[in-house]
Amino acid sequence: MDTILEVKNLSKHYNSFSLKKVNLTIPKGSIVGLIGENGAGKTTTIKAIIGAIQKDGGEITLFGLPFHTTNKEVMQQIAIVMEGSFFHEELSPRQMAKVLKGLYKKWNDVTFNRYLRQFNVPATKKLKEFSKGMRMKLSIAIALSYDAKLLILDEPTSGLDPVVRNEILNIFQDFIIDEERAILLSSHITTDLEKIADYITFIHNGEVILNDMKDDLIYKYGVVKCSEQQF
Ligand code: ATP
Repeated sequence: MDTILEVKNLSKHYNSFSLKKVNLTIPKGSIVGLIGENGAGKTTTIKAIIGAIQKDGGEITLFGLPFHTTNKEVMQQIAIVMEGSFFHEELSPRQMAKVLKGLYKKWNDVTFNRYLRQFNVPATKKLKEFSKGMRMKLSIAIALSYDAKLLILDEPTSGLDPVVRNEILNIFQDFIIDEERAILLSSHITTDLEKIADYITFIHNGEVILNDMKDDLIYKYGVVKCSEQQF
């Protein structure tokens, strides 16, 4: 099995927007970038994959098995980083680590503390005092601290300064040195994906309009651009 996550014909209908049978494949050892302009359907795709919203159609498999986000064993293997926190605002990262240790079999305090230091995230400050960027860095530190096999991240670098952004992109590349892991990452920052993605999926108005290896796209078009007109 060379694929970690497979999404087939994923659909979701809102009143004025539909995801139109989105297909995505996340091979082992790869970073797949989901690109699209604002409102293209990136967040809807990710939410439908992780079960944060009810999909209207399609199949999702993780390691070849139907992906049920209610299965606790399965959820040990994936890490989700999205805007919005699952934690109580009165908790500090150090207090969160105690909760996370109980949730994740492979939780590693040493790794977590290393990332907190690296990202300059204060370990004892309460979440309510955190900026948006700091929350994102904390979420990424958590995601990297329990040996998940698949990271799913929605716009993880948006709102971060270039130095931290680069630091995070490098960490993502280190993460997939282990060939059993993979990353699905949405962004509208094409330069970020041009730097780290192995495959790029362009989504426009709820529809995948292009899906290819990044190097092939750069070969064909010179650069990776977010605009539909490019094609
Ligand atoms: P952005 O970068 O702006 O977040 P996106 O590509 O992630 O863009 P989505 O958040 O997936 O886009 O939104 C796609 C479309 O679906 C938008 O037109 C949005 O208004 C609409 N939409 C999202 N959530 C809902 C909802 N709960 N009810 C109705 N429409 C929604």
